[in-house]
Formats: sequence, structure tokens, C-alpha cells
Amino acid sequence: MLSICCSLLRAAYVLACCLQYLPKAGILPSLEDLLFYTIAEGQEKIPAHKFTTALKATGLRTGDPRLKECMEMLKVTLKTTSDGALDRHLFKKCVQSNIVLLTQAFRKKFVIPDFQPFCAHIDDLYENAKNLSGGQVADYIPQLARFSPDLWAVALCTVDGQRHTVGDTKVPFCLQSCVKPLKYAIAVHDHGTEYVHRFIGKEPSGLRFNKLFLNEDDKPHNPMVNAGAIVSSLSLLCPSFQSERESGDRNFAIGYYLKEKKCFPEGTDMTSILDFYFQLCSIEVTCESASVMAATLANGGFCPITGERVLSPEAVRNTLSLMHSCGMYDFSGQFAFHVGLPAKSGVAGGILLVVPNVMGIMCWSPPLDKLGNSVRGIQFCTLLFGVTIFNEDLVSLCNFHNYDNLRHFAKKLDPRREGGDQRVKSVINLLFAAYTGDVSALRRFALSSMDMEQRDYDSRTALHVAAAEGHAEVVRFLLEACKVNPVPKDRWGNTPMDEAVHFGHHDVVTILRDYHNQYSPQDTQDSATDKQNAEKNLDGML
Ligand code: GLU
Repeated sequence: MLSICCSLLRAAYVLACCLQYLPKAGILPSLEDLLFYTIAEGQEKIPAHKFTTALKATGLRTGDPRLKECMEMLKVTLKTTSDGALDRHLFKKCVQSNIVLLTQAFRKKFVIPDFQPFCAHIDDLYENAKNLSGGQVADYIPQLARFSPDLWAVALCTVDGQRHTVGDTKVPFCLQSCVKPLKYAIAVHDHGTEYVHRFIGKEPSGLRFNKLFLNEDDKPHNPMVNAGAIVSSLSLLCPSFQSERESGDRNFAIGYYLKEKKCFPEGTDMTSILDFYFQLCSIEVTCESASVMAATLANGGFCPITGERVLSPEAVRNTLSLMHSCGMYDFSGQFAFHVGLPAKSGVAGGILLVVPNVMGIMCWSPPLDKLGNSVRGIQFCTLLFGVTIFNEDLVSLCNFHNYDNLRHFAKKLDPRREGGDQRVKSVINLLFAAYTGDVSALRRFALSSMDMEQRDYDSRTALHVAAAEGHAEVVRFLLEACKVNPVPKDRWGNTPMDEAVHFGHHDVVTILRDYHNQYSPQDTQDSATDKQNAEKNLDGML
């Protein structure tokens, strides 16, 4: 109650402050002023650290190129203040050149509006995977064998440029096979799908990534296996390039095989293509930088933090399709089944994961499982996005699987903006059905596993509404079939019984009383156990 009062008072205060500054003509306060009052929370000045902390909570970084003008002005302005704080006028001066992005951030218009709770989930899963000790660090390339098996990092970047990192995210490592989707995307961007696929197939090979094998048309199966990646390599020198080349006998064999089968465009110098392939595998990234590459794929080819178009939509779509079917070595089918998202792993222990239209993620940890995928990376991706058996529980956190249904999502977390909108729509539909007494709509909602105890802004449930309106059949359905909590309290402390009594619906009072008498107060509190039975009851009643 106290917190509600505080929020109301704060809102009233903000409004009063805004009104105080409204010009007499009735012009609305500027975006800069609104932003000031949002962050100032009733104070006359905003300390600079408060501003940057609030900024980081939205997922934006102070080093974001889109905030360059604001940050430069902030630095200059702070030198003129004695207390390191900004009044409304100084604040406006600092934020005005980047006001659109800042307003979007503070009005929660980014794809993950509540960024911090989402990052807390990421950190939990990171910690969880940290304890894993299985797997072997790849040693067939001496440079790779030097990495500690304890290294573990996760970095993400959303399509709105929100960033989060945890672990060893600044340690450089080689992209290795994670470069394959990127170079394929560049090849398609530069030459088009038709030309590139004159030389490479689109089908999973069902064979190890470095097998000396071509498809029935004597083409490499796809661009995610070595043969296809060598053909799609069309220049960059890095430290591990030499090491890579010296242990590249198999790839030389593949190269000669490809040459014999005329897999390269005419006039191609196979050895220089192979050198280029080794150089590409040796490109160094950090988890942080690679997450922006993944986010560019998630964002249709536009880099989220520079706004630059890097890849054509066609190149991105092709790449994501092939990552989805062929990106995870001989685990690709299982990864597509469990996680349902395009990803590509590499022998250095990286997994580049794309959640289309939402975010890119780079996980990195050198120990690999038997199929060549990072042990910690697979666990992280599966627990975050997939459905897996973990400690005998079915675990799945977010509904980002390609085939997750976005309308009936009740049991999974949807941190997306649209996810929030969907939830609002779902509460409205539920309460409206209860208000109109539409039991058949309520049956459909229950069958699609909608949470029948959802509450609106005033903490009112479908049961409150149905009791207030006197819809006895709805009340019975919610209690007996759905086993909803019979005594939820709304924001004023009223229960459905209070509503029924208040509006004189005696039949509803009787139903509620009879139902209540069957259960001890203890039972009604424990609606979780009841809910398990509810699913069984539903079969009978629907
Ligand atoms: N260096 C690699 C090769 O043997 C890339 C292997 C990988 O990451 O799958 O071609």
C-alpha cells in the first residue's frame, strides 16, 4: 500500500513539475524535460553517475557510438559544475542530440524492455554452466591447446543495441568455424544466392564437418562444412594462421579433391583459397565483439550499434536457414529440435547464436564434447532457449524456439516487448470473457493453457469480475475446472466473495461459500497443488 502511495505521489509530483514548466499556450513539455523528470525522481538535479547507472540499466552502454554526442557534451558540462550533477537546463544540453534513442530506452521501447531481470536470468544460467567440468580442449591446432578449460564467457547484443556480458568476455579467441556463416553471408551479399549455390549445396551432409565427401552433383553439401566453407572463401592475417596452416593436411586434401572435381570457379588458385580459409578461421574476436556480429544477423544485416547495413536481407535469411539445419556439426538436428534457433559452433569453443529479430549471443568456453561443441555453451543455450531435461525437470526459460507458439505462451518467459503486449491482451481477453459471462471463451483459454489467475492493473482476477457480475456458471467453471485461488485479493483487499455480497448475487455467494467449505484455508492457499489436479479435471469438464 505504501509503495502504491509513493508511486502515486511521485507521479503527481512529476506531473506538477511538468505543468509548472508548461508555457501558458499549453504546449506539451519537451522530451528532454520528460526524460529529466523520469530520471530525477523528484530531485532538482541529476548526479551524473545516476544518469549513467540508469542508462546502463536499459542495456545501453556509455560507449555506444549512437550516444557519442551526449557523452562528449556530458564530459564537457561536468567540468563546469561543482557537484557533478545536472540541473534541468544542463541535462537538456547533454541529451538533446541523442534524445530519440534515449527516450526509446527510458520509455521501455527496446526489444527487451525489462533488461535487468532478463540479464539476471542470463547470469544464473552462466553460473549454472560454469560448474560443468566435462569436455576436451581441441589440441589438433597447437594454438588452440593453449587455452585454459576454465575460460567461460557469454555476451549478448539485442537488435536495439542493448548489451550484456558475463565472464571472460574480453579474452580474444579464434572464430574457427563460427566464421563460416559470416563468410557465406558475405559471399551471397556480394554475388547473390544463385551464383554461390552453383558451387555449394544447401543440404545437411550427415557427415563429419571435415569429411572428404561431396554430394551427388559433386558439390560440397553446404557452406557450414569445411569443403563448402573452402569454396565460399573468396584476405586477413592473424597469429594462429601459421599454426592452422601447418596442421591443415586434411583441408589440403579436401582442397585437392575439390580441385579435381572442378568445384571452384574457373581460374581459381586453390592454394591461395586455402590460405584464405585458414586466415578466416584464425580471425580473432572477443565474446563481446562477436555478439555484435550475431546481432547483425538477428537484425536483418544492419549492425545494431552503428546502424550500418552490412549484409543484404537475402544473405541473412539464407545464412540463418543454413545455420539452423547445419550449424552445430553432427548435433545440428538435435540442436534444431531442442533449441530451435540458428547457431554455429567452432572448434575454439565458440557458439554464435541468433535469435532472429531479437538478439545475437556469443558463448565461448574451450572444452568440447565428442561432437565438437562447447560443453558449457550447449548447456547454456539449451537451458535458456530450449526444452531439456535438467535434474529431472523439464526446463525451458524463454519462448524463443522457432516453433514456440507466441499466442499461447503461458508457461514460458517472453522478455520481448511484444511478449508484454501479448500478456496485456491476454488479461484483457480473460477479464472480458468473465465480464460477459462467456464460458465457452473461458474454456478455450483454459485449454490453451492460459493462466486463469492472471490479474489486471488493480490485481483483479477473472473470478472477481465474474462474481461482481453475477455469472454463476463462470464462477463455477473457474473454481471447479480451473481450480483458481478462490480468495484472491484485489488492490483494495476485496475478494470475489466481497464482490458477490456487495452486488447482491446470492447464487454466487452460495457457490463460493460451498466451495470454500470443502477446503481448509491451508488448501486454498496452496493452489499450486490444486492446479496439477485441475488439468485432470479439465479433461472431464470441457
Ligand atoms: N580450423 C578448422 C578446420 O580444421 C575449423 C574447424 C572448426 O572450427 O570446425 O578447418
